[in-house]
Amino acid sequence: MKIAFIGLGNMGGGMAANLVKAGHDVRAFDLSEVALAQAKDNGCLTFTTAQEAVQGVEAVVSMLPNGGIVERVYTSDVIGHVPAGAVLLDCSTIDVATARKVVEAAEAAGYAMVDAPVSGGIAAANGGTLTFMVGGTDEAFGRAEPILQAMGKAVIHAGGAGTGQAAKICNNMLLGIHMIGTCEAFAMAQKLGLDPQTFYDISSVSSGQCWSMTSYCPVPGVGPQSPSDNDYQGGFATGLMLKDLKLAMEAAETAGVDTRMGRRAKEIYEAFDAAGNSTRDFSAVITEL
Ligand code: NAD
Repeated sequence: MKIAFIGLGNMGGGMAANLVKAGHDVRAFDLSEVALAQAKDNGCLTFTTAQEAVQGVEAVVSMLPNGGIVERVYTSDVIGHVPAGAVLLDCSTIDVATARKVVEAAEAAGYAMVDAPVSGGIAAANGGTLTFMVGGTDEAFGRAEPILQAMGKAVIHAGGAGTGQAAKICNNMLLGIHMIGTCEAFAMAQKLGLDPQTFYDISSVSSGQCWSMTSYCPVPGVGPQSPSDNDYQGGFATGLMLKDLKLAMEAAETAGVDTRMGRRAKEIYEAFDAAGNSTRDFSAVITEL
């Protein structure tokens, strides 16, 4: 299949390479020449504008930094330029309202479109093991699914347009909250005289057990290998967790939901990020407690 790929950064670069490996003819565009050169090495055909990259393709996949950019790229360079009948897949993490607006504009122009944000970081993007949470009509999902399968291990239909983004930010708000809770519990256990490994052995088989503890323990040397064992390098950057918490709080306000723990998690990560920790893994927040 001829597929245009827009946004070949940390995530998009590996995803486009996996589409090539699956036998697709991938036409790549990015503002960065370095990203384009890498895409070329990975077997993509590269273009200097998005409008050229989408000529004659059957599908467009995008992996871009934010909602403003996604809206601009789709309204100026994709919609009206890509052939009628193409399916459009935006895999970026953006706000629900913009995701719905872009899908509406695409549908009004006769295209099928899904919002398909991902869970999993750069390693999962490179390894083709992402989880996609997909919002869109049954027809759009049916057409997007085989393309997403080539880049991930799970593709889940969340509901109508925007529900992929809704699933992503609700999940990551919960993740931010239970990571902070896990860090507080380990910090307090230690102050109260408990060895971290002993606390882990007890809590991991008790009601306090959660993913932040048993899959991503913020204490080095405890639980399975995680970024804490690598001085909090790699993993999921604090800056990206903060981005998702901000999107979650915007959505909560629009929906009229009083997410007090989510708000507090956002404040904690905002302070941690501002203190120079933006690129450290988000579990490093334990070092501030
Ligand atoms: P990145 O900054 O590495 O990549 C974004 C790419 O988009 C860059 O190469 C940039 O040059 C390009 N770009 C920007 N504006 C453009 C435009 N107008 N036209 C074409 N290209 C343009 O970011 P990333 O880490 O790859 O993240 C991409 C998306 O994936 C974000 O929405 C992010 O929230 C989401 N995400 C990232 C991770 C992660 O671990 N990095 C995990 C899950 C989701």
